Amino acid sequence: RKMGYAIVGLGGYGLGIIIPQFKYCQHSKLVALVSGDPVKARKVAGEYGVPEANIYDYKNYDRIKDNPDIDIVYICLPVSMHAEYTIRGAKAGKHVLCEKPMAISSAECESMIAACKQAGKKLMIGYRCHFEPFNLEARRLARSGAIGKLRYFRSEHGYTTGGNNWRVKKAMSGGGSLMDIGIYALQAARYMTGEEPISVYAKETTDRSDPRFRDVEDMIEFQLEFPSGVIGSCMSMYSANRNQFLLMGDKGRIEMEPATGYQGQKLWVGDGRKNEITAPPNASANQFAGQLDHMAQSVMQDRTPIVPGEEGLRDIRIIEAVYRSAREHKRIALK
Ligand code: NAD
Repeated sequence: RKMGYAIVGLGGYGLGIIIPQFKYCQHSKLVALVSGDPVKARKVAGEYGVPEANIYDYKNYDRIKDNPDIDIVYICLPVSMHAEYTIRGAKAGKHVLCEKPMAISSAECESMIAACKQAGKKLMIGYRCHFEPFNLEARRLARSGAIGKLRYFRSEHGYTTGGNNWRVKKAMSGGGSLMDIGIYALQAARYMTGEEPISVYAKETTDRSDPRFRDVEDMIEFQLEFPSGVIGSCMSMYSANRNQFLLMGDKGRIEMEPATGYQGQKLWVGDGRKNEITAPPNASANQFAGQLDHMAQSVMQDRTPIVPGEEGLRDIRIIEAVYRSAREHKRIALK
């Protein structure tokens, strides 16, 4: 049988990106919706064949516990709501797939992990790049020595925000560009090198007179130091478009642009003089369906997902250190 998903939050990502992917899934199906907007929910339910009885709102959400159609809840809400809806989902006896960034603080991440553990339910974070074929090929090449000994990683992630939404309100987002997209640079630095950073040093540059940035940062640069000596140089911003990474080894380099977008990834690998475009095996694999089906199979086979809550917590701990470094203008050692 296919695992039944309830999508919690019918916004740009939950409705616009995730719901249309179920048709590409082998092990996952859409069975329920959780929304504060009953008119929208009924319309979406009609389009995707979800029975009206399987529409919930944020108040009666806990009643999903009586609905055996729902195996997994997928939290696609503003970041400040991730912890509450994850914990309520686990208490209702459901497995949880929660969007990135996992929560607004490491303390919240810890409580989410504890709640899912106590309920005996799986918790996975929506790090879709772990299912994206170009990222997987770049990682395989980097770790197999294709460019020699790794020395340097660089990633820039940015887009121009219009402001005027929860992402620029710190209480709801936990922070600015770093929380939203800098996290892709941080994740890639970790999964490309296969190492955990031992220190961070960060600098934030934000025009606080810009009404979009009263509450959250625009640009933040941070340097990660890895045990092997690899340096990870990351930057995120809310005032220009950019999505790339570069990995330099002593025998060549790997580049991707776009690196972590929804589609259109390009990968170059070469000796530095001649960098050639490389197509990964399985290049047409759909990262969204891969992610949904991985969670479904983790539940069916009682295995820990490859990007569990602990992975989300690791990033949030590093992000907290990045913000602290920028605030205190000093290098922060990581445990
Ligand atoms: P969005 O603003 O488009 O949607 C948020 C949804 O939450 C809306 O349906 C909104 O009605 C609902 N909501 C409920 N209570 C709310 C409140 N108090 N304030 C604001 N909205 C409220 O946001 P989004 O882009 O869909 O992001 C949702 C989550 O998905 C975030 O965690 C975001 O980081 C993540 N996301 C992930 C990716 C990815 O590629 N993995 C891409 C985009 C967003």
